[in-house]
Amino acid sequence: MIWFSYCSKVLHEMNKKIARFLAENVPATPCLVVDLDIIAKAYETLRRYLPIATVYYAVKANPAAEIVAMLAKKGSNFDVASPNEIALCLDNGATPERLSFGNTIKKERDIAAAYAAGVRLFAFDSEAELEKLARSAPGARVFCRILVSCEGADWPLSRKFGCTPELAVKLLCRARDFGLDPYGVSFHVGSQQTDLGQWDGAVASAARMFSLLAEADINLRMVNIGGGFPARYRSEVSPVAAYAGAVTAALTRHFGNRIPEVIVEPGRSLVGDAGVIQSEVVLISDKGDDSGKRWVYLDAGKFNGLAETMDESIKYRIETPGRGGATGPVVIAGPTCDSADILYEKTEYRLPLGLEVGDKVEIMSTGAYTSSYASVGFNGFPPMRTYCI
Ligand SMILES: *Cc1c(COP(=O)(O)O)cnc(C)c1O
Repeated sequence: MIWFSYCSKVLHEMNKKIARFLAENVPATPCLVVDLDIIAKAYETLRRYLPIATVYYAVKANPAAEIVAMLAKKGSNFDVASPNEIALCLDNGATPERLSFGNTIKKERDIAAAYAAGVRLFAFDSEAELEKLARSAPGARVFCRILVSCEGADWPLSRKFGCTPELAVKLLCRARDFGLDPYGVSFHVGSQQTDLGQWDGAVASAARMFSLLAEADINLRMVNIGGGFPARYRSEVSPVAAYAGAVTAALTRHFGNRIPEVIVEPGRSLVGDAGVIQSEVVLISDKGDDSGKRWVYLDAGKFNGLAETMDESIKYRIETPGRGGATGPVVIAGPTCDSADILYEKTEYRLPLGLEVGDKVEIMSTGAYTSSYASVGFNGFPPMRTYCI
């Protein structure tokens, strides 16, 4: 079938099932098609290479009920951030003791509701949040998120979350005084982290906190190493085995033979490569300027699924099935009436010169942070539909 001819070998293998679904069902575009088998395999691979860690899937990466149900069946736990994510997990096979309320910014009534539902593991990174937990989740296990640099991450999660390790030590002492169970330390080295060395410093900070708190007779039991493992966008990334090796080495180096319970919270690396967005070319134009670039407008943009192209941070692989031949430089934009809705202008992208209005365009590795990361209907364009197959 001509369908496959444009694919590189790896993609060809990866997306046969998705290509067949698209060819047979011809769904309206834009849409996201997610192959559950790829997610299952990614989960198994992570378990195999990082057996030291318990997996908590970061639900925000893709909250499709089918994904949650499949992972729950495979034994995954879940990192949740809101009452709706808690309900989603409980409705799809998870039990409350398998949930971690990992958002450090929670309404107190949401803490109370989670506690009433049976959730007993909560994140915090400030004194005020700790006070809410003490009041509304008495006796719960709590872990403090620390600041880390996030250097090397294409989608950093720095500054907004975490506190200094010094403050974290004080707050975990306070947690005990409040009747909570000071359970551990968490960090997130930044999403799509390409520097495998980043885990070492973060684990070192966590291990120092374990020692300092032991002097105050508080024995932490858990380190939560967050997410950060990558999906395959335009640049090559190391395989999950290399990431797992770096993390395991860091744990061994800094905790010796006293490695505590380890939690890993993969989002992007579990679901990213499992999804393909199919989009349609709406317009191809030339501005009459001397840029030499055509503008290609797609029916998928920043507001209906491609939010992570903000600042051109995430650079997706883009395929044009059935259109080979010579290519030329392009600016790629979405369909809405907002000039922020440009996907790639500075980053060099090239598309076939033979591309035509109405052609299908496939945006690869779009299983994470896409369909749910959309506006509800800016300009009347709804969030794109997800098909889990
Ligand atoms: C978003 C998030 C994750 C997932 O990060 P990825 O880089 O997508 O794996 C994990 N933990 C927390 C607390 C998060 O907010």
